[in-house]
Amino acid sequence: MPPGDGLFLLNVYVALASPLVGSAAAAAAARLATGRPWGLSPSTCAACGRRLGLLEFVPVVSWLVQRGKCRGCGWAISPAYPVIELAAVGIAAWAWLATPDYMFVATCVFGWLLLALSAIDFRTFRLPDVLNATLLVCGLLTAQLFYPDRMLEQLAGAALGFGGLLAVEFTYRFLRKRDGLGRGDSKLLGAIGAWIGPAGIAPCVFVGASAAILFVLISTRIRKRPLTGDMAIPFGPFLAAGGWLVWVTGSAQV
Ligand SMILES: [Zn+2]
Repeated sequence: MPPGDGLFLLNVYVALASPLVGSAAAAAAARLATGRPWGLSPSTCAACGRRLGLLEFVPVVSWLVQRGKCRGCGWAISPAYPVIELAAVGIAAWAWLATPDYMFVATCVFGWLLLALSAIDFRTFRLPDVLNATLLVCGLLTAQLFYPDRMLEQLAGAALGFGGLLAVEFTYRFLRKRDGLGRGDSKLLGAIGAWIGPAGIAPCVFVGASAAILFVLISTRIRKRPLTGDMAIPFGPFLAAGGWLVWVTGSAQV
């Protein structure tokens, strides 16, 4: 088989896997939020313990077929499931359009790890170390495979991302005498830095902070609550969005 066909098939397999990856991310977020272990265990309804049927493992379709409820006990299944599954498909589609050849696979891995981290942070205000570390290692592997001469630069990106937010965290604590930023956010930006390099850190933080401010303004407007300084929002999803945009619009075009 000519290499072009092999590459095409690989890309098709990766694209087909996307809704399953979304399911896994949604399940991990739900399990962490309810304090259950997040490894792969036989999936059961969280409310009645009924084992799920085969059709109920098909992403998006299962939620539609069950009309968002467990067929055993009627417990409402979170719409986060189909939303995250569709987001994983969207990431694959965007990666397909934005990045060439084998970079498509790397871009999917980057996007899906960011999606999983965002889903978990959104529900639990935590960014698991194991996922941040996986993101970092995959970023360095991608650099090694696609542009090994820039490895030092990518390491500098990781150091700048981690160190930069760590400095913000300490400064905030010193000035305001309370925590404003989680350590997980620094680790996440460090891992993203391994992908986008030192030049991508500032645009990533700019996009992330702007999106976070917009989110706060819109959500206080919707909930009709006054804007206060101690409103807690997870920063991870916004950093992830910034890192993704920098990647697909620049860093991946090597
Ligand atoms: Zn049930």
